[in-house]
Amino acid sequence: MRLIIAAIALLGLTAGALAQQPPAAPPFATTKVEGTDNVYIFRYMNHQAMFIVTPAGVIATDPISYARPQAAKAYLDEIRKISQAPIKYLVYSHHHYDHIAGGKVFKEAGAKVVAHKKAKERLAILKDPNTVIPDETVDRKKTIKLGGTTLELVYTGRNHSDSSLVMFLPKEKIIFAVDFNSLGAVPSRLAMNDSYPGEWEASLKKTLELKWERMIPGHPGPGGRLGTRADMEQQLAFLTDLSAEVKKASDEGKCFSPADTELKLPKYATLQNYEQNLSWNVHRYCGYWGRGI
Ligand SMILES: [Zn+2]
Repeated sequence: MRLIIAAIALLGLTAGALAQQPPAAPPFATTKVEGTDNVYIFRYMNHQAMFIVTPAGVIATDPISYARPQAAKAYLDEIRKISQAPIKYLVYSHHHYDHIAGGKVFKEAGAKVVAHKKAKERLAILKDPNTVIPDETVDRKKTIKLGGTTLELVYTGRNHSDSSLVMFLPKEKIIFAVDFNSLGAVPSRLAMNDSYPGEWEASLKKTLELKWERMIPGHPGPGGRLGTRADMEQQLAFLTDLSAEVKKASDEGKCFSPADTELKLPKYATLQNYEQNLSWNVHRYCGYWGRGI
């Protein structure tokens, strides 16, 4: 009897505790970009993608399902809450799986998978079982016109990867640009791993030549905000100064060590993750200037 009473009391407590807990926040969210008729951001945890809904069909980008196969399904379900129009395209921002795994559900829904030609080359070699090989490739530029929307896929050169496409909506003055412009932050170790010093800065300059005003990043910006031209100019200034300082250190025989611990760029000390990430940035540019890597 005592046991039963204890069990009932415990149940009561559990029910009470459950009732008091706020509902768990869903891991994903879809938001319409302010000031646009049909441009949306789908965020799943710390990754996000742009999609555009037109009467003639939907243009989706980055299925972001690496290590979480449910993300692409949730993404497609979210699109379906807004539109039943056919999914015409799935465009990859670049070939890194954390952004593009999981495209199968989009392909099965009828999407043509589009990426830079280098992305297709790399994916064909890597054979990731969860990443769909592109159907169509872009070299320097491709324009998609669908249901009154124009989307330009522009290759501005090698930067964070060798396959990054800038997705540019000229009417809306918006770009979707992934991993090569860290908003208000020093690029992370992962941003540096597969990067191209020197060419990265040139690519930022070319991206700035496009007439955009707002940038949708592949990882949410501080407070979830969009990127600005000032963010990209700051990233360019940071990489340019980093490169010049590392070149000096390299000429003095300080690469990789002690430059990777000693070199500082105090002008950028207020950027997010400056302390944690600076040495990786120095390391990458030391590889470039010190070894030709
Ligand atoms: Zn990447």
